Amino acid sequence: MTTPDTLIASSAPASKVNLLGLSRAQLEAFFADLGEKRFRAEQVMKWIHHQGVIDIEQMTNLGKGLREKLTQVAEIRPPEIAEQRDSSDGTRKWAVRVEGGALVETVLIPEGDRATLCVSSQVGCSLDCKFCSTGKQGFQRDLTSAEIIGQVWLAINSYDGWQSGKGRVVTNVVMMGMGEPLLNFDNVVSAMSLMTDDLAYGLSKRKVTLSTSGVVPALNQLAEFSDVSLAVSLHAPNDEIRSAIVPINKRYPIRMLLDSAKGYIDAQSDKKRVVTIEYTLLAGVNDQPEHARELRDLLKDYPCKINLIPFNDFPGSDFKRPSGNAVSRFWQVLIDAGFVVTVRTTRGDDIDAACGQLVGEVVDRTRRSERWRDQQAAKALAGELL
Ligand code: SAH
Ligand code: SF4
Repeated sequence: MTTPDTLIASSAPASKVNLLGLSRAQLEAFFADLGEKRFRAEQVMKWIHHQGVIDIEQMTNLGKGLREKLTQVAEIRPPEIAEQRDSSDGTRKWAVRVEGGALVETVLIPEGDRATLCVSSQVGCSLDCKFCSTGKQGFQRDLTSAEIIGQVWLAINSYDGWQSGKGRVVTNVVMMGMGEPLLNFDNVVSAMSLMTDDLAYGLSKRKVTLSTSGVVPALNQLAEFSDVSLAVSLHAPNDEIRSAIVPINKRYPIRMLLDSAKGYIDAQSDKKRVVTIEYTLLAGVNDQPEHARELRDLLKDYPCKINLIPFNDFPGSDFKRPSGNAVSRFWQVLIDAGFVVTVRTTRGDDIDAACGQLVGEVVDRTRRSERWRDQQAAKALAGELL
């Protein structure tokens, strides 16, 4: 982090610290550097994350002098909403524009008295899982902590949900949007600490879930920094199939991944915790009864619950969603063996709410309009429009 002293010296507006993404410890250090009392961090966090206030001038309990000082070195800047879509089933999805113009997506899925926000951690993803539309977009960059927590801020703000008394807009967060959270470790850890901090979003650690495709060295470190719930994207009952669809499996195979995930939950004080095993069902690839039986044997005695996700198709994908029958047959094998198994129902179908799809579309459209502009410019040059 740039220190406030350097910021005052340069006073370049572009280098202002974005307070939105600072964890409590980071904000306290920021105020200490500024020669201010640490409790200022508490006041500012409440303004930003409880009241939704991002204009320093409106933080009336700070005093005029401090507000002026703060305005020179700091700002609170959430990312922008490029597009918002509402599904008939209540799902709301945003294409969020981050610094530099790239787009990521955030989805809010209401279900009864819960509302789960699916948050992105990177622009694109480098891991190239074969069935994932984010993977097909390649990797552009890590999101900053402000851009990650900013998605939570935007979601609440878009419902005018600050101190509304209408119930909480966001009750659960899953790091299951674009990107691999463990490849953006520090920023994801800071943002998740804000999700669970009472001075920010105050969610219980059970209601914040990090999903990983298996970056084992980072997962081995996670318990030192975080205690949120863990989901592992397994998607296959053996290394042969997994390596073909989740390439990182060639570096960190299934046994290593399952051991690492167990190490994470064993390190938690709450001994009842389990790993959520995510298993995307791909027709003909990993959805057959023999795969279910192999999965059953692999996970025997492993502390987990299983979440089956019928593949969400997208334009240009190489896979098919299994039939309802294939899904229930698979489910039955696991249920008979005594596992807790849920099948993720598809939500927001009419707004392409699956991983990475809205962004794919917005980018496509942007490219189309760029192509159109280029064509018009070429025509103009050729004298056709003159
Ligand atoms: N990178 C992380 C988190 C983001 S993806 C991870 O891979 O775990 C969230 C979940 O959606 C993962 O389990 C991922 O494998 C799954 N997923 C991605 N694309 C999908 C698709 N088209 N259909 C169904 N599940 C998909
Ligand atoms: Fe990346 Fe997760 Fe998609 Fe794999 S499934 S490419 S890790 S976002």
